[in-house]
Amino acid sequence: MSVWFTEKQTKSFGITGKVRRTLESEQTDFQQLEMLETEEFGNMLLLDGMVMTSEKDEFVYHEMITHIPLFTHPSPKKVLVVGGGDGGTIREVLKHPDVESVMQVEIDGKVVEYSKKHLPTISSSYGDARAELLIGDGFEHIIKSEGVYDVILVDSTEPVGPAAGLFTKGFYAGIAKALKEDGIFVAQTDNPWFKSELIKHVMRDASEVFPITRLYTCNIPTYPSGMWTFTMGSKVYDPLDVSMENISELDTKYYTPELHHASFVLPRFVNRLLDKE
Ligand code: SAM
Repeated sequence: MSVWFTEKQTKSFGITGKVRRTLESEQTDFQQLEMLETEEFGNMLLLDGMVMTSEKDEFVYHEMITHIPLFTHPSPKKVLVVGGGDGGTIREVLKHPDVESVMQVEIDGKVVEYSKKHLPTISSSYGDARAELLIGDGFEHIIKSEGVYDVILVDSTEPVGPAAGLFTKGFYAGIAKALKEDGIFVAQTDNPWFKSELIKHVMRDASEVFPITRLYTCNIPTYPSGMWTFTMGSKVYDPLDVSMENISELDTKYYTPELHHASFVLPRFVNRLLDKE
């Protein structure tokens, strides 16, 4: 008998895939963690029934949350990652030679532990001398920080459970304080098909704190609807002003200098969400 997992996006729609075997299934202190070996996408991490990452398509999310802001900032030396326990975001951050240190604050040590065991190509940078891992609440770390970071990447779960506070205006105000005076932040903000209200409110709240706010998208097959968004807030630098000649060659599979600009071109229904037309 074959076994399938389903991530339910609404009461009547979900995304499903065939499972070869369950590698881990554990209620951690924060969430239900599942590590599955899937037929189509390799090993896959789910938290509270939601797909977090898979070996086959992880590169899209991790490259796009990282390289757009790190190529927008002219000299990203100090980077903070909130969440991101699978390690894919710090792996991409460390491809930038300007980066002197990347601090990661992940609330759930079990995500890191099982990612190291079952997602070795994603968690491959944990031993890097420039990377530091703190197990704790990203919100609390942000509130304590002032003028420290060039770039902050919010690689969190959806706004339920431990991540609920990471989608509030107070958090964006804290991020602005934790950044230097020309800092940039990017947060993953789900999809415009089923989470349009979330995207609207994050953009509204972020634009009350940051002079430049922009939404960009990418395509991720294992995430609900396939269309994923990121929200950027920036104090000085506009990603659309970045000249393609200033984007140096990196080892990527999704991100390109052309996509740096193209990912900000939004379909009409998404623009309308943002009251852009
Ligand atoms: N790429 C995924 C997505 O968008 O579906 C998210 C990656 S997953 C590794 C996100 C991580 O954020 C989880 O490991 C979770 O434990 C962590 N997280 C949630 N709330 C947090 C908080 N308040 N502080 C730090 N980490 C948090």
